Amino acid sequence: MQKVNLLGYTVNDLENLMQELGQRRFKGRQLFNWLYAQRQPDFSEMSDISKSARSVLTEKYCFTGLTAERISRSSDGTEKYLFRLDDGKLIEAVMIPDERKRTVCISSQVGCSLGCLFCATGKIGFGRNLTPGEIVGQLLFLRQRFGDSAFQNIVFMGMGEPLLNYENVLKAISIITSEIGLAVTARKITISTAGVVPKILTLADSDIKVRLAISLHAATDDKRGRLMPIARAYNLERLMDAAKYFALKRKRRITFEYILFEGFNDSAQDIKALSKLIRGIPCKINILAYNPVAGFPFRRPSEKKVNEFGRLLYPRAPAVTVRKSRGIDIDAACGQLAGKYQQ
Ligand code: SF4
Repeated sequence: MQKVNLLGYTVNDLENLMQELGQRRFKGRQLFNWLYAQRQPDFSEMSDISKSARSVLTEKYCFTGLTAERISRSSDGTEKYLFRLDDGKLIEAVMIPDERKRTVCISSQVGCSLGCLFCATGKIGFGRNLTPGEIVGQLLFLRQRFGDSAFQNIVFMGMGEPLLNYENVLKAISIITSEIGLAVTARKITISTAGVVPKILTLADSDIKVRLAISLHAATDDKRGRLMPIARAYNLERLMDAAKYFALKRKRRITFEYILFEGFNDSAQDIKALSKLIRGIPCKINILAYNPVAGFPFRRPSEKKVNEFGRLLYPRAPAVTVRKSRGIDIDAACGQLAGKYQQ
């Protein structure tokens, strides 16, 4: 008989399970703590759980995490992990260190249905949603590798559109933020969306206090539509209304991601349109040079051009950050590695 994998079970799920096993409900919390906080997958070692429950758990259940099929390490310290899931599908996570902290970028779907024209994941197409266990499993792998201080920030910016896997992402976040789970505070978690407007509004009204980043990349509907097909479903007026609603509801800035593509969205005209677009929205703009992907028509602008864009935009925006590209030598752009492997 195949054992049931408890990876991805929430506190509530485990409380129900322990009750079904004839145990007191709170024993589910202890089990949850063993599995996620103490990373102890061996039920027989769980000293505060009764012998009879331990024996049933060992017989029928397991807690099996993800293992990396391949790890690539960049000269700048960035690491990329390729995970093969139970059904053979591939996903990626990236760990980006700087002097003080590590940020981990995780996937929420196998592939992606949104087909942005600059993105290697979009080219792969949609495979399926990740389960809560597969989302949390990427982080547990890193905790196993680097210990409790493996990462300080989590961004849902890997493969997939997290707001199109809303229920599973939220379930994973409940495990990640639980004090007896991974104990990461919600404000250290960023959900990055291509602009799924109805779900931005739902998230704003929820009590999940994560941060929000929106991939903007262009300041007119025409240009954005040429980069991101989703822009035709939700135009900039609706997207900006949702962004403002989220920021005001949370009383916190949101982030707009703006990838610079040489000769496409990097002119003085673009700066003017962008500053007009974000007027009145508490926000920060992250500027990043395009990380080129073989076979795609876009080019990477020079570092000088990127810095100049940031310098000229800065007085017209509440906050501007020019981000350094990381891990270029290890195909760190989202979906590059999985795409290569799939081929
Ligand atoms: S950029 Fe994000 S939303 Fe667009 S195709 Fe890639 S993974 Fe999907």
